[in-house]
Order: sequence, then C-alpha cells, then structure tokens
Amino acid sequence: MKSIPDIVLDQNAFFLSQKTKDIQYRLSLLKALKSEILKKEQEILDALNTDFKKSEFESYISEFALVISELNLAIKHIKNWAKPKRVSASLLTFPSKDYIYKEPYGTVLIIAPWNYPFLLALEPLIMAIAAGNTVVLKPSELTQNTSNILTQIIKNVFPEPVAVSVEGGVETATELLAQKWDYIFFTGSTKVGKIVAEAAAKQLTPITLELGGKSPCIIDHTNNIELVARRLVWGKLFNGGQTCIAPDYLIVNSNIKDELVNSIIKEITRRYGKHPKTSNDFPRIINKKNVKRLKALLNNETIIYGGDVDEVENYISPTLVDAPKLNSKLMQEEIFGPILPVLTYENEADIETIIRNLDKPLSFYIFSNNKHFIEKTIQKYRFGGGVINDVLVHFGNPKLPFGGIGTSGMGNYHGKHGFDAFSHKKSIMKRGTWLDIPMRYAPYKKKLNLLRKVFKYLG
Ligand code: NAD
Repeated sequence: MKSIPDIVLDQNAFFLSQKTKDIQYRLSLLKALKSEILKKEQEILDALNTDFKKSEFESYISEFALVISELNLAIKHIKNWAKPKRVSASLLTFPSKDYIYKEPYGTVLIIAPWNYPFLLALEPLIMAIAAGNTVVLKPSELTQNTSNILTQIIKNVFPEPVAVSVEGGVETATELLAQKWDYIFFTGSTKVGKIVAEAAAKQLTPITLELGGKSPCIIDHTNNIELVARRLVWGKLFNGGQTCIAPDYLIVNSNIKDELVNSIIKEITRRYGKHPKTSNDFPRIINKKNVKRLKALLNNETIIYGGDVDEVENYISPTLVDAPKLNSKLMQEEIFGPILPVLTYENEADIETIIRNLDKPLSFYIFSNNKHFIEKTIQKYRFGGGVINDVLVHFGNPKLPFGGIGTSGMGNYHGKHGFDAFSHKKSIMKRGTWLDIPMRYAPYKKKLNLLRKVFKYLG
C-alpha cells in the first residue's frame, strides 16, 4: 500500500487530468459500485452482524437499502445536477447570460464513524464521486468486519487515484488530517469534530461536520399514548440506541408520565421479550469502553426499568431512568445507547429550562396534536432537523437536507444536497459585447445624479 502522502499526490494528479469531470466516467463508476454492493449484500449484512450483532433487518433497511437508493438517485439525476444552471441576469450588468457551474472541489477526505459503518462511509462517498471528486475514505476501526468489506468493495470498483479506503485508528486519522485536502467530510463525535475543524482551519479547507448531541423528545397530553410508545421504543432502540438522531431523553407532560412509562415498558417487552439479551433483534454495544461509559451514566440514578449490564457480552438492557438532574452526567453527555431518561414538565417554561441547559441538538422530536404548540416550538429552538409525531424518519427523505447546527455539526447532505455539498458553486457571467454603456467609466463628472436616478428607478 502506498504511503498517505503518495495517495494524496496521485489523487491530486488524477483530478488535475480532468478525467473526473467527464459525467459518463462518473456514471460508470457509480454503476460499478452499485453492482459490486448488490453482489456483496449477504457479506455486508453478515459483517454488520459480526461487528455488533446488528440484525439483518435493521442492517438491510438502515445501511444496505439506503446506500442503494442514494446510488439510484445519483445515477438518475447526475446529468441534471451537474449541468451549469442559468439564472436570470441583473439589469445592472445588462447584457449578460449568468450561470452557476457545479465544480468538484478536488481531493476529498471522508472520515466515517462506527454506528452505521456502511451507510455513513458510502453515502458521502457516492455524492463526492458523483460530483467529480477523488476520495480517500477512512472507515471506523471499531467495526473491523464492515471496514474490511468497504475496503474490498472500493478496491474492486475504483482505480486507486479515484477512491481508496485507508483503514486505521486515531494515528491514521491524524496523519490523514495533516495532509492538504480540497474538502473534508467528517461524521463522528463533537469532540473529534473539533480536532477535524482545527486541522482544516490550518489549510482553510472547507468542511462538513456531521456530529452528535442530545436530541430531545417532547410529549404532550394530546396524543395516543400507545402509538407514541411504539414509535419511541422503535426509534430509541434501533441499532441498540447507537444512533446520532435517536431521541436522547423525554420531556413528558407530567399528567401522562405514568401512563407513558407503562406503555413504553409494555412495548419493549412486546418487541424484544422479557429478556432482550436473547433477542436476535437487539444489537450489542460496540465495545467495552462504551459499555463502561453507559454503566457509569447510571450511577446514582433512579432506574424505573431495565438497568441490566453484562460487560462480557457488551450488553445493556433497554433502560428507563426517572428524572435525572440537569447537571448529572446522564443529562450532560450524548447517551448513545439504550438508556432513556424521562423528565417531566408542567408548563412551557419547564421545557425551556431543560432544553436551554444543553447545546443545539442534531434532532428534535415533538409528539403533539396541538398545531399552535408545534409551530411555536419548531420556531423557538435551534436544532438540525426534526420530526413531529415520530422519530428518526426525517433521515429517510433525501429531499430534506440532513445536518446539525453549532455543536451538532455544520453543513448538510443527502440526495442532491450531498451532491451540492461536494460541489463548489462557480458563478460565471457571460457578457455581451454589442452594448457598452459608458456611464461606469471615468471621468465621473455629472454622472452621479444620473446614477442616483437609475438606482431609484431600479428600486
Ligand atoms: P468518533 O468521533 O470517536 O470517531 C469518528 C471517526 O473519527 C472514526 O473514524 C475515528 O477513527 C476518527 N477519529 C477518532 N479520533 C480521532 C482523532 N483524534 N483525530 C481524527 N480522527 C479521529 O465517533 P464514533 O464513536 O465513531 O461515532 C459516534 C459519534 O458520531 C456520536 O457522537 C454520534 O452522534 C456521531 N454521529 C453523527 C452522525 C451524523 O450524521 N450527524 C452520524 C453518526 C454518528
């Protein structure tokens, strides 16, 4: 394997050869990628299962199918997305024809996390390639089996100067970040996001940061509690709670708290049985370090349900915690596991106290049928994106840009938004030469009054 600086050199040279500007070439790469992934479906699902006992169903829907649909979208729309777009001209610069050209940045670094290790490596890669960039991908070192498959797929599909997967941990990531990139796309924790941003700032490299945070879920009294519990349990326990947009904690109207908690407990049992450890549908925590971290979050807390920890098996049972203090560890850090704190509110001021205690979240959920309350709440708080009366599902519509704000990230992607994220928008004005209004040229004497009139007229 080449050294990292050599890989970057080769990719830069290949980019400058203009080959990736050819839309047909990009299309052929995307189609080859699709066919390779389709061929390896079972291996991909098996790798995810070996890595953290993720069920085939969840792997299929949240990794395999989402990657294939992103590929389908790119293959279908690439020609249209890449075309220069004409925009209306300005009267001030008449005569002209004005365009926005979508230009690939060049050589892109993508660093991926472990929690959706297949999806979050390939989704940005697909759009980076579609937009005409060359890519170095660093998959997560914590999901070794999935990372190996990713490396194989990329090797089988792409010539090395177009895309390559470089496996490794912090040391490799650090060496990668020390190179000069044309764009960096990072998905991971806020803590590492800051390291990436610092490295990028040194070279003024543009970045997208897809980070995490504590996503609240507000539940008022106007809804069907059983349905709320069903959707909540699905979204909280999907991937074992290791989802960046999982509802992190609940803020429940105090009048319905007991009923909701009972419904959630019934729903957990309905879906995963009395012993979720034996369920094939409930994944494990990724590693011992995270099991220990999650276990420590439960110290001194009041557990309403669950709380079983098996450090040998990397297992934590679905757990409900009653009213943790806002300054507790549980309420200060992103949980990223199957633990759900239940806080209550009497009035909207209580909700504000809880939410303002934390940074801007990646997602925000409201279960309510009160339109006024929903609209007011959407507009009041700053967050990446959200769902009313469900959780997680906004991730599934590629027409919605996906990304955080503040500590939960910067920039966004998915579908065309992803293509745009990896494209520089180059403004081009093509001016006519058949008319040359003399007013802009010196000497300016006596021209200012005319200029004022023109500006007033143009409004
Ligand atoms: P992480 O930040 O620990 O690691 C992410 C990647 O960064 C890995 O490839 C890792 O090798 C690399 N890395 C680790 N330390 C590094 C360093 N010092 N310098 C450079 N690179 C380094 O995150 P994780 O544990 O893999 O993933 C969990 C986090 O990711 C959660 O906070 C979650 O919310 C977030 N996340 C966000 C999204 C999103 O779309 N916004 C999606 C998934 C996960």
